[in-house]
Amino acid sequence: MRRLREPILMYHHVEPKPFDPKPRFTRSYVSRAEFSDHLDWLAGKGFSAVSLAEAVDRSGGGDRPPGRCLVLTFDDGCQCFLEHIVPELERRKMSATVFAVSSQIGGENAWDRARGERVESLLTVDELRDLASRGFEIGCHSQSHADLTTIAPAELAREVAGAKQDLEAALGSPVATFCYPYAHFNDAVMTAVREAGYRAAVSVHGISGVSARNRFALPRAVVTPGASRLEFQLQATGWYGLWRRMPRLGFLNILRRVRDRS
Ligand SMILES: [Zn+2]
Repeated sequence: MRRLREPILMYHHVEPKPFDPKPRFTRSYVSRAEFSDHLDWLAGKGFSAVSLAEAVDRSGGGDRPPGRCLVLTFDDGCQCFLEHIVPELERRKMSATVFAVSSQIGGENAWDRARGERVESLLTVDELRDLASRGFEIGCHSQSHADLTTIAPAELAREVAGAKQDLEAALGSPVATFCYPYAHFNDAVMTAVREAGYRAAVSVHGISGVSARNRFALPRAVVTPGASRLEFQLQATGWYGLWRRMPRLGFLNILRRVRDRS
């Protein structure tokens, strides 16, 4: 495929502060005020936000709408998507993709709970259907949030193809995109995703094999709380991949270290 031009951002949770109980993986939690600030910056710069499926479809050619565009993605399908993310997006007429774990619809973040994370309630079938009807894309985040690079072939088929069937049956509509749990994938996992009929899959920058030219290994920029405006701008404008490689050149890494200490 042609290079996917739209940068893809990755968020997990957006919550009002203070967090109670405090999360274990704090870098997955962005405050609503900070998220709102990100969207204000994007809107002010004239960005539009489309779903991942729409961006991938555009990459196949045809007319492109004018102006800057990016993709906002949200992993795991937590209730915070409905409570805090959707109102901010709809206010600015922005779309997004939310990735749901098919065996935990209406359930909890069981995979994170095993690692000591606080309980997060996940979106129900009715809520996911409602979101789809409002123009948000529901993508698949596997059946159980397993690390797909560590499981047997039969399990892989369940986690990828089985999850697609389950999610489509629940939603009553096709599911086009996949998100690798923990961002981990390899050739066998990519093949399973392609053969299951997905049109694209996402990982994150820094994982071996990601490429904006491979629609089954698309990189995303992970938005973390407290990141500098410079970092967010680089993520949103597509320069983030280059910036991540800069530490070897030693320049922007200095900025990053200053920020990390602050
Ligand atoms: Zn996840």
